[in-house]
Amino acid sequence: MVSPCQVYRSTRSSAKETKSFEEVVIQGLASDGGLFIPPTIPQVSQETLFGKWSKLSFQDLAFEIMRLYVAQDEIPDADLKGLIQRSYSTFRANDITPLAKNTTGDKENLHVLELFHGPTYAFKDVALQFLGNLFEYFLQKTNKDLPQEQRKKITVVGATSGDTGSAAIYGLRGKKDISVFILYPTGRISPIQEEQMTTVPDKNVQTLSVKGTFDNCQDIVKAIFGDSDFNSRHNVGAVNSINWARILAQITYYFYSYFQATGGKADKVKFVVPSGNFGDILAGYFTKKMGLPVEKLVIATNENDILDRFLKSGTYERSDKVAATLSPAMDILISSNFERLLWYLAYENLANHDALKAGEICNNWFQQLKIEGKFTVDQAIIDGALKDFSSERVSNTETTATIKKMYKDSQNPKKYILDPHTAVGVCATERLIKADNDPSMHYISLSTAHPAKFADAVNDALSSYEDYSFVRDVLPEELKKLSALEKKIKLVEKADIELVKTVIEEELAKMGL
Ligand SMILES: *Cc1c(COP(=O)(O)O)cnc(C)c1O
Repeated sequence: MVSPCQVYRSTRSSAKETKSFEEVVIQGLASDGGLFIPPTIPQVSQETLFGKWSKLSFQDLAFEIMRLYVAQDEIPDADLKGLIQRSYSTFRANDITPLAKNTTGDKENLHVLELFHGPTYAFKDVALQFLGNLFEYFLQKTNKDLPQEQRKKITVVGATSGDTGSAAIYGLRGKKDISVFILYPTGRISPIQEEQMTTVPDKNVQTLSVKGTFDNCQDIVKAIFGDSDFNSRHNVGAVNSINWARILAQITYYFYSYFQATGGKADKVKFVVPSGNFGDILAGYFTKKMGLPVEKLVIATNENDILDRFLKSGTYERSDKVAATLSPAMDILISSNFERLLWYLAYENLANHDALKAGEICNNWFQQLKIEGKFTVDQAIIDGALKDFSSERVSNTETTATIKKMYKDSQNPKKYILDPHTAVGVCATERLIKADNDPSMHYISLSTAHPAKFADAVNDALSSYEDYSFVRDVLPEELKKLSALEKKIKLVEKADIELVKTVIEEELAKMGL
């Protein structure tokens, strides 16, 4: 039996057609340009939440959550459990996503949720370790017993300005029938990020260092996705956060950290999330809608504040220039996953809860965005969003000041060092703690990266402290070793789609794929 929460549709579709979980994961983006969503969100009772789920391990909780969204006939229980076990066996922390222990002792209601204990030290591992295993699982099912030349293969192509590329490579390395090509702008990513991506020896992984900007790389990737001839030959797959499986995998840590922070009780909790493409915080929205009593989801943005502006004005407007900030993973012009929230807001605002009509409304908004560069929604839609969300904008100066303050205030002997993305969230959280003045409220501030990944911003903030040393206090042993490893880089001399396609085909031939 398939439940209504296990079928999916596009945010822009007004047709009856639905898709299975497998179709949604493999396809990534809907053919009408929309994103896939489960129109019905599963409901979990308070007895189940606080009688059962509050006592589960991270992996067991992940299983209970995913089971609700994925039909048994697509992935039977034992297989789903195996996928989850394998995906989180690569994490360094026993409880996968722990709450930090040595932050400021005087603020016991501020919890920093460390999401960076996966292979690449960024929160994207939580989702991409799982997505890599899912791709492999579905391909193995399809390819069972087929001879080599008939096997279905996936060629993953992505562009990165840093974190996504390495997390995707570590999620897909060594996976059968899958190859991965990650484009990045030559000389424009941090040395650690380049080392992480280029020292993976697996044959199915190839990084392409492209002479150009990040936007050039992204344009090439988009053009490759739109090239139906290349696509039909190579089955191009997407790993960016439009993939529904990434959102699904992230729901677990919202439930898990809530229970950790409250000791399993139904207390008041606000989540504060450093946001860019809105994928992380959207998982928090599903958590709240499933029945966990979350007080608010707080969007923390840097100076690229399209979301903050939308919640204040009701106008969603693409800015024409992206500001380069200390938190580059959040430097975006448009938050692609925001479309999913807008669909639910449109749906809930309709008296008859008509999914087909919600798709039509959403499609109109995004057509308008494409033509006019902006759209404005009714006040009722904004009011709907404000029931669950609020937003805070944090400047570069405040980001640096927050890294300093946490370092100074945190307990000896170990000082706590924030990465700049996490600092955006912690700055927003401290503002809220002051404004709310409610000692019974818990604040869970999501930490999205290890500080070693963003050395420049961290050193700028802390190098004036005499007893501070990046190598001793920040850089993990495992990352120190990377610089000694052999690098595998393919230079692409010109940001040109035909050239990149040729290089990919040559490399695929070498890989035997
Ligand atoms: C990707 C990323 C973010 C933003 O997450 P979204 O899901 O795009 O909102 C924040 N911080 C870091 C370190 C990231 O890598």
